[in-house]
Amino acid sequence: MAKIIVVGSSSVDLVVTAARRPGAGETVLGEGFVTVPGGKGANQAVAAARLGAEVTMIGRVGDDLYGQEILNNFKRNKVSIEYVEPVTHLASGTAHIVLAEGDNSIVVVPAANNEVTPAYLAKSKDAFREADILLIQQEIPEDTVAYVGELCREMQLPLLLNPAPARPLTEEMIANATYLTPNEHEAKVLFPGLSLSEALRRYPNKLFITEGSRGVRFFDGEQEVLVPSYKVDAVDTTGAGDTFNAAFAVALAEGKPIRECVRFANRAASLSVTKFGAQGGMPIRREVEEQMQ
Ligand code: ATP
Repeated sequence: MAKIIVVGSSSVDLVVTAARRPGAGETVLGEGFVTVPGGKGANQAVAAARLGAEVTMIGRVGDDLYGQEILNNFKRNKVSIEYVEPVTHLASGTAHIVLAEGDNSIVVVPAANNEVTPAYLAKSKDAFREADILLIQQEIPEDTVAYVGELCREMQLPLLLNPAPARPLTEEMIANATYLTPNEHEAKVLFPGLSLSEALRRYPNKLFITEGSRGVRFFDGEQEVLVPSYKVDAVDTTGAGDTFNAAFAVALAEGKPIRECVRFANRAASLSVTKFGAQGGMPIRREVEEQMQ
């Protein structure tokens, strides 16, 4: 069984639907309200566990009801929460989403996720020893991501950095990442002076740019390769990137050849867009394997 560590954010998404969004100082009546688990770290941990990996989450929640919901969701999905310690003085991470007039407006409050600090990671690094790969995103403090990069280099643990949301990376951070998986927008932020083809050439077999329904592009050392996406009826693409990253990590941890890893991840991500919700559409292993035949 592949052993994966995910270092990242967890949150609860509070989603309101309304005919229109209120202006400043205005109150409108909404139509619906749901809460769903989210946060890129949590989404990727859940996706990897559904795909059959043994997953340990390193993160923080608030000492509140949302924190309990987040922990219960990890348990339901068989993600280990030994390293998810509640923070007493902060709320859990939340995203406040208004769906109105065919568009969404979102306020994200990281709260407890800001306590995924280098010092917290230093306490949690026992978890690193047994792992096959570490998966991380950028909804936690920048110095934590840099610190995890250093730890992975020291411990020779492969590191998959999903650089989302976008922010510039140091050369050292790029060097410490074994795999980098931006979407096209994030890739432009990472490599402002370069065309995407030039960036791919510079980082062969490290940089994998996801291009939605087109597929994933990388440079294999000799040529640029596009591994096409699978054609599906897309219902909701939220969480496609999270499913892709989790599945890519699982396949890499299992030692599959690189193109097969990308194909497996594309297949898993394509299934995730056929259902509503970030975690709602994340497939289990058997569903992906049946579709790959
Ligand atoms: P998101 O932010 O929506 O979660 P993203 O912008 O991080 O996603 P994308 O490149 O849009 O990343 O999608 C990630 C992967 O999901 C793609 O490489 C592809 O495998 C799959 N995917 C996304 N959209 C579709 C689609 N419409 N049809 C099939 N596969 C898709």
